[in-house]
Amino acid sequence: MPSVRTPGALLIALIAGLSTAAPPELRIKTAGEPLSDGPVGQVERRLDATRQYRIVRFKRPPDPSRLRQLERRGVRLLTRVPDDGWVARLPTDPQDPLVEDLLELIPFGAEQKISPVLKRMVSQRRTAQFIVEFQPDLLPGEMRWVLSLEGAQWREASWLAPHHLLVQGDWSLVERLARWQEVAYVFPAPSSEETADLVPCGAILDRSGPLPQYVASYGPGWDGPGLGSASLTYSFQKLPASLPPDIAREQFLRAMAVWQRYVLVSFTPSWNTLASRNLNIWFTTGAHGDSYPFDGSGGMLAHTFYPSPPNPEPIAGDMHFDDAETWRVGAFPDLFSVALHEIGHALGLGHSDDPSSVMYPYYRRYEDLAPVDIAMIRTLYAPRPNEVPPEPPFPAAPQLSISFPPPGQPYVTTANQVTVTGTATHPQGIRSVRWITSAGGSGMATGQEQWLAGPISLNEGTNRITIIAESTVGTAASEVVEVIRLSNSTSSSAINPTTPQSPGPGTPWTPEANEPRTYQPPRTVTPNAPAQPGKETPTAPQPPPDDTTPPVLDVTWPASPLASWSSPTIDIRGTARDDVGVVGVRWSTSAGAAGVAAGTTVWEAHAVPLIVGINTVTIQACDAAGNCSQRSVTIRRW
Ligand SMILES: [Zn+2]
Ligand SMILES: [Zn+2]
Repeated sequence: MPSVRTPGALLIALIAGLSTAAPPELRIKTAGEPLSDGPVGQVERRLDATRQYRIVRFKRPPDPSRLRQLERRGVRLLTRVPDDGWVARLPTDPQDPLVEDLLELIPFGAEQKISPVLKRMVSQRRTAQFIVEFQPDLLPGEMRWVLSLEGAQWREASWLAPHHLLVQGDWSLVERLARWQEVAYVFPAPSSEETADLVPCGAILDRSGPLPQYVASYGPGWDGPGLGSASLTYSFQKLPASLPPDIAREQFLRAMAVWQRYVLVSFTPSWNTLASRNLNIWFTTGAHGDSYPFDGSGGMLAHTFYPSPPNPEPIAGDMHFDDAETWRVGAFPDLFSVALHEIGHALGLGHSDDPSSVMYPYYRRYEDLAPVDIAMIRTLYAPRPNEVPPEPPFPAAPQLSISFPPPGQPYVTTANQVTVTGTATHPQGIRSVRWITSAGGSGMATGQEQWLAGPISLNEGTNRITIIAESTVGTAASEVVEVIRLSNSTSSSAINPTTPQSPGPGTPWTPEANEPRTYQPPRTVTPNAPAQPGKETPTAPQPPPDDTTPPVLDVTWPASPLASWSSPTIDIRGTARDDVGVVGVRWSTSAGAAGVAAGTTVWEAHAVPLIVGINTVTIQACDAAGNCSQRSVTIRRW
């Protein structure tokens, strides 16, 4: 996160923080621990004599000019500490009258930087693996320097979050590290056998950025102070590209049902993505308008905005997921597990220090809440009365495996199609096996326990094919196979690099897509097109060198370029003509959704998602020489 903030943004965040009517409280896990280091930690050690880190409160709302003065004195507000505190980096002179006039320094000593869970663990085992969380603006070299000065052994691990390091040691080392003002918190590491699939929760957010690990919860929950009940809605702005919509939706419904089983919260569906008290679920990529851009495949998976109050609406409770990930069911990254964790944040929980918790800051695969999660959520909401019988455990997921291509590594081929085979079993039987590709193709496999998917068209380069098996009781499992299609070297020099790749032959998903799909060959014949599918021949069409005429593109539905619509999705249809041949029609929306239309000369963009309000959908048709035409339709969804 940036260490310098503009005074304007700061003021908005401050007003949001100060406008809450509830009595302010610092929701720190170790607030009850004794302050052995004195009021502001006199025995602290520090790496840099010119700066100190403090938890501060504003004595009264400052005006923008006072905030600019503070910034000029070198004061930086780094992270919120709910409800009304901040982690601040201050110059070392604490006698500055402006700082004294505006800021109250909150005592936060070394004792309060040690997780109570770690304390129990070390007293039982003498040594433990633990994670040291550093202050958010520290450089990687400074973090390691602190550890070397204490003689600590640390492990570099690729799964660690940017300001975490993994250390093994005894109680004395924990105490010595906690005395460093550059250290924010020390808490237990995940047990070592779990580290294969660990990914940190990307960020837990309010408008001012991620929260420190020592924060227990954000605000009093949607029900306000005390233990009450909350009625919330949820909406799907866009579902993941890598799973069929009905399977993805089911993972969220399962995850909401888990939280609902233990406390008095309820979730009802809504189409209004901008409503208050609504958890809007959005799969998106890269920068998406909230200053926390996603980072492509791997790394950050998701982030969630805390409830209102104190977070502002309509963003409060919203959950964003990185759509560059290949989301899966029953395997990592398991959508149900990540959704279960993020809904915990949307209900107001911070991160737990207990590695068995669903709310531990590194995701694992979960089936249910741990006892510590149930206890934590019951500090925010009233427990569901005992007379309600607990739900039966979820039925098992199918066992799905891929036989061909052989699993474990990408399969390399020069063919333009592949047929994937495998098995799927479930005690109650398999209802369907389907496939979906990273290029937007999809279809039904033939067979169930022994299934065959394809032939599936391949684009040049890497193709991710997701196979989804669904049982007759509605549970699902997915597996992914990567197929790399190499270009034929004799023809690759003739391929125009701007030639769009044609979409796969499959048809888009619809939620009721339980009927077998038939293979539809591409409608357009282009010069030098592949002779027959299945043959290992170069397939990229070779354009005539002088084709500079773009296709003629028409939208036939909606009939007007300014349309009004009530459903969350719309089918857009049209035609495209070209003297050489149209090779692909793509669509994208102003809300960030995009896809490939089925067909070319006659095309249909199926189930284009619409947000409530104004949507601009852009259709682009390209020919083999890379000449493209665009048309836009503006659709107001009400
Ligand atoms: Zn989290
Ligand atoms: Zn976001």
